[in-house]
Amino acid sequence: MQGNLPTRAIMNGQVALELIEGDITVQATDAIVNAANSSLLGGGGVDGAIHRAAGPDLLRETRQLGGCQTGDAKMTRGYKLPARYVIHAVGPIYQYADPGVATLLASAYRRSLELATEQQLNSIAFPSISTGAYGYPLAEAASVALRTVIEYGREHARPALIRFVLFNQSILQEYQQVLLGFLQKNWVDPA
Ligand code: ADP
Repeated sequence: MQGNLPTRAIMNGQVALELIEGDITVQATDAIVNAANSSLLGGGGVDGAIHRAAGPDLLRETRQLGGCQTGDAKMTRGYKLPARYVIHAVGPIYQYADPGVATLLASAYRRSLELATEQQLNSIAFPSISTGAYGYPLAEAASVALRTVIEYGREHARPALIRFVLFNQSILQEYQQVLLGFLQKNWVDPA
């Protein structure tokens, strides 16, 4: 089954979408996105891994930012990371049957992309925001995440590479299933 699931797509003839299994802290994209909490003072999961890999200067910078609202994002330098910038996006804590969570999750992705476009970045890597400690069901989160970046990629030439770095095979496959559905609906083109 794995062989039939897509790992790439193209939006607008020029923006590439990639799904890979891996660790976001080693990505050499212009920016990596952190699934941060609203304090921006570090935490567990991907947030802890990014702060450990970037070194203490990252916390020194995020301390100056005064936090970040859910659904918004703020950019810092990447320090010891291969990525030049970290975009700290705050996804929602999942609450069952609250329709607001999907809007907030989409907003976290969109604001991250807007910051990348403003800085004229060519490439960005996302983790699966809100699907760890914040409890967002994976299939629903994958659908919101991919729909949001595809809509954005159709309207903007930059960033020209949008990569999802999924932490294990089952998360990757969930995103691949959603992408397959979008390819079948012609929302995005095969690559
Ligand atoms: P949130 O609080 O937004 O739910 P988490 O960090 O708890 O954020 O989890 C978000 C996702 O990031 C989960 O799918 C988790 O498995 C994944 N994750 C954890 N560490 C890494 C990493 N180093 N690289 C990529 N993804 C990671």
